[in-house]
Amino acid sequence: MGEMCRESLIRAGWMIDGTGARTQENVLIRIKEGLFQEIGPFPQDEMKPANFLDLSDCTLVPALADAHVHLFMSGTSDQNRRKEQLDESFRRARETISRHLRQLISHGVLAVRDGGDKNGYAARYQNGFMGREESSICLHVAGKAWHKPGRYGSFVGHALKRGTLAAGIVREANDVDHVKIIQSGLNSLRHFGKESRPQFQLKALREGVETASAMGLKTMVHANGILPVQMALEAGCTSIEHGFFMGMKNLLHMAERQVFWVPTAGTMQAFAENAGEREEERIMALRNLDHQLAQMGAARRLGVPIALGTDSGSLGVHHGRAVIEELRLFVHAGFSVEEAIRCASRNTMNLMGLHRKGLIKKGMTADFIAVKGPPSALPGSLKEISHIYAGEHFL
Ligand SMILES: [Zn+2]
Repeated sequence: MGEMCRESLIRAGWMIDGTGARTQENVLIRIKEGLFQEIGPFPQDEMKPANFLDLSDCTLVPALADAHVHLFMSGTSDQNRRKEQLDESFRRARETISRHLRQLISHGVLAVRDGGDKNGYAARYQNGFMGREESSICLHVAGKAWHKPGRYGSFVGHALKRGTLAAGIVREANDVDHVKIIQSGLNSLRHFGKESRPQFQLKALREGVETASAMGLKTMVHANGILPVQMALEAGCTSIEHGFFMGMKNLLHMAERQVFWVPTAGTMQAFAENAGEREEERIMALRNLDHQLAQMGAARRLGVPIALGTDSGSLGVHHGRAVIEELRLFVHAGFSVEEAIRCASRNTMNLMGLHRKGLIKKGMTADFIAVKGPPSALPGSLKEISHIYAGEHFL
């Protein structure tokens, strides 16, 4: 209890509040009972009360969140290890998941949304195996993602073999925090921008989304290409995952209805870096990346709410540090560092329904990270975080 009631005073050299507003310099932050109580300019006269922490050589940002990970897989490029991870026993998967959660925490990621695995291990883990060390991260799970038999998605979910999508969602609603639906294939690495056929019919998809929503479950829909994204939007999904080649019309629609987009651009960069001898695939991955960055720039101008998600567990995409890579890509796409941080903090927290998190603002949960140096050293300076503060204490 002593910890809880104590008041902490912090001096920050620079502070990014998570709203997207410009960095403030020389800020006084007062924390009490796990909440930000006061944020204002640091007074001129010398003050050094008890519990004072001088971070005048640091930049403070809100705790980060990753809106799209697969905890059962690591980003390793060792193909044998990748195959093993796909079919591991729960006992081994538990160790993998726990390690990934600790990696995320060490990068200042205190909330994470899992996009599913074929055995539903992340959900099983969350429902009874979260260790003490992992308790500072808020984990939301999808269980097994839904896809059509014979179509893409078997790594991260299961095929809907009988009954309707809606009925399947009801069957598994108890064990999950949100629903993941796979509505298209992967990006083509042979034909630039080639669109895959939608998996579910509009009626089934809409019924599924509405059923989930009636049970208080949000829907994350994997969709690339114009038609699959359009159908997901018409069905009323909460977020579009990936959204490569979705086109301007869909982006406009998302801005209008404030539908979240999780662009996972880093997957293409990582693929290019790990393509080895496959030169054509490497070039195609880079072209996909460029196209995605241009879409992200357009989304920024239109005001589409973008949440940062990495798709960690994909080839070359490593839990925790992928957030830094993705932030870099946001900056390449034309976002200021402050705007990029907003996508990784407030926007992702909002998408996850964590409305008291993601901002350094009076009344919000006092989660923040401090990195050495000025904001111009971001996002690279996130590699070496000097302090992580989670609600009531330093981690
Ligand atoms: Zn994914």
